[in-house]
Amino acid sequence: MTPPSQLSTQEIQALDSAHFIHPFTDHGDLATRGARVITRSEGVYVWDSEGVKLFDAMSGLWCVNVGYGRKELAEAAYQQMMTLPFYNSFFQTTNVPAVKLATKLAALAPKVGDRSFQHVFFSSSGSESNDSNVRMVRRYWDLLGQPDRKVIIGRLNAYHGSTMAGASLGGMSAMHAQGDLPIPNITHIGQPYYFDDGLAGESADEFGLRTAGWLEEKILELGADKVAAFIAEPIQGAGGVIIPPASYWPEIQRIVDKYGILLISDEVICAFGRLGHWFAYEKFGYKPDLVTFAKAVTSGYIPLGGVMVGNRVAKVLIEKGGEFNHGYTYSGHPVACAVALANIEIMETEQLPQRVRGEMGDYFGKRYAELNDHPLVGVAESCGFVAGLVLVKNKHTKERFVEDDAVGMICRGHCFSNGLIMRAVGDRMIIAPPLTLTHAEIDELMRLIRLCLDLTQ
Ligand code: PLP
Repeated sequence: MTPPSQLSTQEIQALDSAHFIHPFTDHGDLATRGARVITRSEGVYVWDSEGVKLFDAMSGLWCVNVGYGRKELAEAAYQQMMTLPFYNSFFQTTNVPAVKLATKLAALAPKVGDRSFQHVFFSSSGSESNDSNVRMVRRYWDLLGQPDRKVIIGRLNAYHGSTMAGASLGGMSAMHAQGDLPIPNITHIGQPYYFDDGLAGESADEFGLRTAGWLEEKILELGADKVAAFIAEPIQGAGGVIIPPASYWPEIQRIVDKYGILLISDEVICAFGRLGHWFAYEKFGYKPDLVTFAKAVTSGYIPLGGVMVGNRVAKVLIEKGGEFNHGYTYSGHPVACAVALANIEIMETEQLPQRVRGEMGDYFGKRYAELNDHPLVGVAESCGFVAGLVLVKNKHTKERFVEDDAVGMICRGHCFSNGLIMRAVGDRMIIAPPLTLTHAEIDELMRLIRLCLDLTQ
């Protein structure tokens, strides 16, 4: 058979349409347009099968934090495949890369207050990790003799993955509408989206306190003895990069502490330098019990995910738990763990988290904030190397486009046509570029965004 690289773009698109069911894709639409075929990459760029160069401001799907073309990661995978490509970690076996990675992650995860992270559970994705969270949280309360504490509270418009539990923890109504979700004992509160929901005269901090208060109201409505955990992303990513006001997280911490509820920080997007820290809870100063990670732990070069298990939960699961009847074939996959170790080494050597929280992050934030003067931008905000802006019809009245999805798609189309990959979430345009950006690349990115906004007007 002819290798795919020797097929024409049209032939690949025809085969794609005939055989490949894509995630989150309308296949009728895809069949008429044909998928864009991405074939190679280097640094912050990818190229399509027609040779078009694109600035990948989304790092793939929030993954490629060290940028493309890192030979060290390929070398780590090659060496590990030649040594031990696979062995499971079930039934009292282990492997060296998984042990080294768990040890490394425990060393990187900062201790906050009485919370430290000495243990890691591995999976292959963010979704699986959140399923594991549900299992661990329920097991924890069972072992403590409180089996009625079952309800996990998430937030509307949150994204926690696409498995039955992940999609249920998330608050995406379109996902809930398919598949009879959420599964039992999962409920949601609103998100802290100040631009949309702030009241006239209400400051961002007042809004942050009010919206965090929805958690307390929900706990009281359900009865605290029924509530197992609260799960949230530090910044809502797939929901459109919704950055909470400074008052939000401290108030959430106060509430979970008051009712003894576990706190799950889903850092699948925000960890590994994206917000300038190895883990994002450090940036906001809260104390999670469980931390979900995936994506940038390997910079997306190979699938790996997991949960940092805080001392409060680990102690109970390990000391009282006996066998935990949960796990995946690929939990602690040696090749994925070897790639993660090499990826973390690059991040350490190049001081990527420090870069993002230092001068480079300041420069990115300053240049991004300049977009606030654009007539189409309601507000443009960033935190570390993740950013979002809302497209508005009238900047002064905050009037929105009636077809909010359409305006986002139009803007995204202009981005693609002009060599930029930016994601549209309704009327929000979002980016999460590699953490390696130079000043010149930041300038180029901002020039491209402004150009695409001009074309969208
Ligand atoms: N949690 C968050 C915050 C995410 O952003 C994502 C994916 O974007 C997931 C979980 C699911 O991760 P995965 O797609 O690896 O299953």
